[in-house]
Amino acid sequence: MNIPLVFLLSVIPDTDLLIPFVEHRGPFHSIVLTIAVFVPFFIKYGRSASPYFVALIQHSLVGDYVAGGGIQLLWPLTTQPYGLNVSLASPLSIALEWTIFLVSAIIMIKTKDVYKLLQPNRSNLILAVPTFTVLLPTFLAFPLHVPLELVPPHLLYLGIFLISLSKCSHATITQLMYKNPS
Ligand SMILES: [Zn+2]
Repeated sequence: MNIPLVFLLSVIPDTDLLIPFVEHRGPFHSIVLTIAVFVPFFIKYGRSASPYFVALIQHSLVGDYVAGGGIQLLWPLTTQPYGLNVSLASPLSIALEWTIFLVSAIIMIKTKDVYKLLQPNRSNLILAVPTFTVLLPTFLAFPLHVPLELVPPHLLYLGIFLISLSKCSHATITQLMYKNPS
């Protein structure tokens, strides 16, 4: 499994913030659209497409469905927003975030996936997208600001991603220098 790709897919729905004329929490957050996009991948790759599908759909079904102001889950069938409208800074949202963070951290340590992220691997360059579009800008309150209670997991992922990126860019530069020693 390509873990950096999983992280990338988990933030893809929020790229709607950067695209003009596309409503935030609209089509990009639709589970109908996500399923339609993934049908060819399931036909081609079968069950191995599942982790990538889960990474993409959990953004809407777990994260945004619970917290925030509702999402157009069933676009294009209806533009009706669905959600529990829990505040991002509420104890329920923070407890849910921490629970999912701890479970995912334990799984990543057990499967040793976290060590793979810290190796100089070229596919880790994908992490530049979640790092520079979500993790870093949120400290400047874009697209939303991180509640104080969620700063520790936020900083941990930011640290892992930055180490990962610096290791693979260092490896790429070394490789280029080795190819062109002059
Ligand atoms: Zn979203």
